[in-house]
Amino acid sequence: MPMRETLLNELLSQPTAPYRERLVVHRILAALKEGGVPHFSDPVGNIIVGAASKAEYRKLVSKKADEPLRIFMAHMDHPGFHGVRWNSPADLEVKWHGGAPTHFLENCRVWLTNGKEWKGQGRISKFTLNAAGTSIDTAQIRLNEDKEIENRRERIEAGDLYGAFDFRAPVWREGELIYTRAADDIVGCFAIVSVALDLWSEKKKRGKFPFLGLLTRAEEVGFIGAIGHLELGWLKKARRSLVFVSLETSRTLPGAEIGKGPVVRLGDRFTVFDATSLRVFADVAEKVLPGSHQKRVMDGGTCEASAATVFGHRAMGISIPLGNYHNQGFQGGPDASSPAGDMAGPAPEFVHLQDVSGMITLCHGLLQPKLSWADPWKTKKQAFRKNLRAARPLLRSGP
Ligand SMILES: [Zn+2]
Repeated sequence: MPMRETLLNELLSQPTAPYRERLVVHRILAALKEGGVPHFSDPVGNIIVGAASKAEYRKLVSKKADEPLRIFMAHMDHPGFHGVRWNSPADLEVKWHGGAPTHFLENCRVWLTNGKEWKGQGRISKFTLNAAGTSIDTAQIRLNEDKEIENRRERIEAGDLYGAFDFRAPVWREGELIYTRAADDIVGCFAIVSVALDLWSEKKKRGKFPFLGLLTRAEEVGFIGAIGHLELGWLKKARRSLVFVSLETSRTLPGAEIGKGPVVRLGDRFTVFDATSLRVFADVAEKVLPGSHQKRVMDGGTCEASAATVFGHRAMGISIPLGNYHNQGFQGGPDASSPAGDMAGPAPEFVHLQDVSGMITLCHGLLQPKLSWADPWKTKKQAFRKNLRAARPLLRSGP
C-alpha cells in the first residue's frame, strides 16, 4: 500500500495546540468522509474511527468474538500556547500548555491563528518558566508589524488565539526526513486514518475488522481526551477482550534510532505495558518487519497506553523515533535556534519516512486474524519443558 504523503503533509500543516485541535479535526473528518470510513465525535470531542455512532461503537464492543478489538489511539494536539490578553496592540500575553524548550527562547518565531481565517506570526519577547523549570509557563508575543494584521486586530479576541513555534514551513522534506512543527502526534493520527482508509477500501471486507481508532484531544496536558473517553463508561459492557495500542512519536533514545524502523514500545516513563499483548506484538513485528523494527521501553515520556493501563485495560504501544522531541533541539539540524544538546532552544521535530510507513505496516500486522492472543507463550512453554526434560539426569545426579 503506497504512503499517502499528500494527506500526511496536509495534516502536518494544520495548526494545533492542546484544547485547540479543531483544524486537525476538520482535515481528518474530511479524509474519513471521502474514504467512506464511519466515524463520529464522542462528547469530549475525540474522533472515533470505525464506528458511525455511539450505538455502533457499543455494538462492536459488546459483540461476542474471539478476536480482541484493537483500539488504536493517537492524539491530535501538540504543545503550544493560548492567548490570554493584549498587553498592547502588538503584544499578546499567552499561557503555555505542555512541554517546551527552556533555552534560547528570546526572540524565537511563533505562529498564531484564531482557528479560522486569521493567521499571523510573532516573536517571543518575554517569558517565564514553570516552577520546576521544565517548560514555559507564560510568555509575551510581539506580533510582526503588518498593516493588515494591525487593522484587523480589534476584531480578534486574545482568548481566541493560539499558536506555537514557527519554522521555515509547517512541513518540509530533506531526503527521507520529514521536518515539521508538530510530528508529535499528528504522525500517529495519520497512521490511524491511513490504516482505516486501507481497511475500508477493501469492499468485501468493509467494516469487518476488529478495529477502532480513537483520536484524542489534549494529551500533552495529561491525557485529558483519553481519560474523558475512558470515563464515558462505554467499555464497561465489553464481551470481548480489548487491546489498546498507543501510536506515538517518542523522544529518540539509544536503541530507538531515527530511520531504523518503528519501535515495539514495551513501556513508557510511567509503566511497562501488558506482557501477553507485547509477546503477540513482538512476534508480529518479527514477521512483518524482520530486521527493520526496534524494541524497547521508551521512557523519554509517557503515552496514552499508560492512561488505558490505569483504567484496567490491556495496552501497548508503537513509537516512531522523534528528533527534537517537543521542539527541544536535542538533535539540532535545519532551522534549530541553537547548537544541538540538552540545553538547546526551539527546533522543528523530525521523523523518518520509512519509520512512518513501518508503523502502518505494524498496525496492519496487528489486525491479522488468528494471532495467538489467547496463549502467546505456548511455544516458549514447550521449549522450557523440553529444557527441563533434558536437565533431569543432571538434576538427579546432585546436589
Ligand atoms: Zn505525543
